[in-house]
Amino acid sequence: MSRPKKHEAADAAVSFEDTEVAFKHKSDRDLWLSYLIFGLTKNPFLVKFLSQAAKWALAMGLPVKPLIKATVFKQFCGGEQNKEYSEVICKLGDADIGTILDYSVEGTEDEAGFESTQKELLRIVEQSKSDPNIPCTCMKMTAIGSFDLFKKISANEPLSTEEIQAWEKVKSRLEDICEASYQAGKPIYIDAEESWVQTAIDELAEEMMSRYNRVKAIVFTTLQLYRWDRNDYFLQLIQRTRTEGYKLGIKIVRGAYLEKERDRAKRYGYRSPINATKEDTDREYDKSVEIFIGNIDVVEICVGTHNEASCRLLIELMAAKDLPNDHPHIYFSQLYGMSDNISFNLAKAGYNVSKYLPFGPVESTLPYLARRAEENTAIAGQMSKELEIIVKERERRKTAQ
Ligand SMILES: Cc1cc2nc3c(=O)[nH]c(=O)nc-3n(C[C@H](O)[C@H](O)[C@H](O)COP(=O)(O)OP(=O)(O)OC[C@H]3O[C@@H](n4cnc5c(N)ncnc54)[C@H](O)[C@@H]3O)c2cc1C
Repeated sequence: MSRPKKHEAADAAVSFEDTEVAFKHKSDRDLWLSYLIFGLTKNPFLVKFLSQAAKWALAMGLPVKPLIKATVFKQFCGGEQNKEYSEVICKLGDADIGTILDYSVEGTEDEAGFESTQKELLRIVEQSKSDPNIPCTCMKMTAIGSFDLFKKISANEPLSTEEIQAWEKVKSRLEDICEASYQAGKPIYIDAEESWVQTAIDELAEEMMSRYNRVKAIVFTTLQLYRWDRNDYFLQLIQRTRTEGYKLGIKIVRGAYLEKERDRAKRYGYRSPINATKEDTDREYDKSVEIFIGNIDVVEICVGTHNEASCRLLIELMAAKDLPNDHPHIYFSQLYGMSDNISFNLAKAGYNVSKYLPFGPVESTLPYLARRAEENTAIAGQMSKELEIIVKERERRKTAQ
């Protein structure tokens, strides 16, 4: 990346309120667009209606793509092709923020689709090799294999001969991607998904970590701390890592499928895997940060969150241990288009920061965009914070003129 890192002890006083730093990369027009989008997504009914309407309009072949591309897609995604998202990578790189290219094609359910996704993932890993602005890559396991197959394996159900063959192909695709990441020396984050496919994902991720993380963490698995069982699992992973002598790569997030998880548990009458309250989730998240700090010799972490208190907790724990801001085992990460006040201010203070940057055809990114919009409406306080900082920066620019 362009600017040298500051090898100083972590600064507990870093401010997330400096909107000039947060939005330096945005023109007045872009800022106005963000203001409109976050203003609209405040209304949950409107968001649900617009998400469905966009899907329907695209399916009917109505010419709405340019409008989606110029608005919500522009806010949350890098572009459809390399040329478009390369500009975003450079812009983020200028602010010392790394990009994690997120190939956001969801819902593929055939072998040809899995093969083509694997090809694209290998291409991204190759691109990351020579680009210091791409510190790592990421993937969804169910993008290279059937969701139903992951579900069956997670439930320990018997497989047909064809399914056994299909599973072998999933493993082989994954091995190729992890091997390429290892050769490129760039970590790959394996995203966490719905709990009913996660057991199979966990098993594969553990196998890859034990194989490729001998010297440093190349393969990272993800813990969703809205689940009440994840810190126990974290401790088990640490114990295994210590016994077998490899490094543990962990991304921690709160979790994106809350309503789906609760609905399913209710429908099938089992105990919901999700914490009862937001406060419980916050407590579990912060506990995982503390577990990490206590095991920093064998764990490398990506703290994927827009929660200022959780970021601040890690900063304070780093300061208490006198760790440098850019400790190689610690990355802060936010989604592109969200919480720029956290990303840009942390990067300015010399912390390792990256943004998940989704890209792909507009039609294929719709489920991701709908999740972002719906998630934002569901998070009490988050949207008002996004709006609050945009309004503050617009005011600041007006008075600075
Ligand atoms: C870099 C990055 C990578 C990500 N990767 C993944 C991934 O692999 N898998 C995935 O699932 N998500 C992933 N996410 C999405 C992440 O889960 C959401 O951003 C997250 O849900 C928002 O949490 P927060 O910590 O940013 O914010 P906060 O606003 O503090 O927390 C909101 C979250 O708290 C939880 N929550 C809200 N209400 C309740 C309640 N009543 N009871 C219990 N819990 C509640 C939910 O998880 C909700 O999303 C990723 C996010 C980032 C930034």
